[in-house]
Amino acid sequence: PERLISPDAATEDGALDRAIRPRRLADYVGQPAVREQMEIFIGAARARGEALDHSLIFGPPGLGKTTLANIIAQEMQVNLRQTSGPVLEKPGDLAALLTNLEAHDVLFVDEIHRLSPVVEEVLYPAMEDFQLDIMIGEGPAARSIKLDLPPFTLVGATTRAGLLTSPLRDRFGIVQRLEYYSAEDLTHIVRRSAQILAIHTEPDGAGEIARRSRGTPRIANRLLRRVRDFAQVKADGRITRAVADQALGMLKVDGHGFDHMDRRLLRAVIDKFDGGPVGVESLAAAIGEERGTIEDVLEPFLIQQGFLMRTPRGRMATRTAYQHFGLQPPLGEVG
Ligand code: ADP
Repeated sequence: PERLISPDAATEDGALDRAIRPRRLADYVGQPAVREQMEIFIGAARARGEALDHSLIFGPPGLGKTTLANIIAQEMQVNLRQTSGPVLEKPGDLAALLTNLEAHDVLFVDEIHRLSPVVEEVLYPAMEDFQLDIMIGEGPAARSIKLDLPPFTLVGATTRAGLLTSPLRDRFGIVQRLEYYSAEDLTHIVRRSAQILAIHTEPDGAGEIARRSRGTPRIANRLLRRVRDFAQVKADGRITRAVADQALGMLKVDGHGFDHMDRRLLRAVIDKFDGGPVGVESLAAAIGEERGTIEDVLEPFLIQQGFLMRTPRGRMATRTAYQHFGLQPPLGEVG
């Protein structure tokens, strides 16, 4: 089944999403270090009348990378052009975007780790010297052309910084890592969204949704909308803690914000691999999930919450994971 708590955007309602997406740095909740630094870098670039340095934003899906890219453009008072690594198939696709930029514009490349090597080659001189260096035509008629580009800001987003080639990574002057949000920050986000969407939410109700949202704003906003449906049909429309708890229980999101996929992964490590260590490929095969989804979405949160450990020999279930299922951890080995 479709994961309700998937951090991917696919199932989002576009109009609602636009209404609640923060537009200014001041409305960007949490991530205090990122906010403070970006405020300084943006302020300085603006004062000097320059484009902001190229910026790389990394972190699990749904934590606010696209939002931050849009805020950067907004605060710099420039246009944002958006594309993504897999969409840019040929060097010409990137060249078309680059030659249409105005001075200081932001070019946002989502999933930048998925750029093809030939496209990446075009990006290097563009980032470094604002030069487009590209071959046109084929065979004996092929020739290379050089074009000057306006100074622009490349904002790249990726789930894990380690996925980038080092020459690409080295060309970013600003690197920001987004962390999972605290329950307090998510409560703030839920209350803000509820206010914009005119949903009556009691503080406890917002807190309950926040606690069960895997540290992820996108999930918090989605759960808010599903709990609202429940509150309308099964209660008087107000989201109290009890209503939130019942709704989330019905949606099979447990007290830790885990769903069937998280439980399946943990149970596989415990039941099929004796608690690990188990390699990610074997784990992927055992639960019928893609390796990338495990690495980008499932395990970062389970690790952050202390249910799973990554060791050089593979993933291991922790004591907390055993206890979560009411199981006795094996003696000795586990963390
Ligand atoms: P990503 O690009 O990392 O997958 P998005 O930027 O699309 O994530 O964020 C998902 C949703 O979460 C956004 O639509 C926005 O409403 C909300 N969101 C993300 N970060 C924040 C934040 N810091 N404060 C408030 N809402 C946020």
